[in-house]
Amino acid sequence: MPDWVEYVKSRKGYEELLDKVLGSLPQDIRKAGDRTIVVNPVILHESRRTIITNFTDIAEALNREPQHLSKFLSKESGKPGTLEGERLLIQGRMTNEELRRLLSLYVKEFVKCPLCGGLDTKIVIEKRLRFLVCEVCGAKTPVRKL
Ligand SMILES: [Zn+2]
Repeated sequence: MPDWVEYVKSRKGYEELLDKVLGSLPQDIRKAGDRTIVVNPVILHESRRTIITNFTDIAEALNREPQHLSKFLSKESGKPGTLEGERLLIQGRMTNEELRRLLSLYVKEFVKCPLCGGLDTKIVIEKRLRFLVCEVCGAKTPVRKL
């Protein structure tokens, strides 16, 4: 019977072994997906319009073009939006809750790597097809055209 069998019998021994295994993994693999993106949309309601005043900041935090994010929001909510400087003007009422829900759907589909959960990604276009390329694990996943 090899020595390590005895060694893992005690719980402390097992935990030490686990630490050893986890400790030997490269840093970037353990860190994948740890980063979080904080977005705090600032919303104004003006008659029948919704204005997101810090819209370009949000797109920047997600590392995406404001046009791309705005297209997604319009498509998913069915409410047309217009970019105006740093703001996005949406025709119709959108609550903060609805916006946050749409933003998390956007992150899930167009920002977060489905393989490792990494958020450092970019969208590349190849032969008119779009891919989400992960800078953490290198995965390349097809994404739809908006
Ligand atoms: Zn990845």
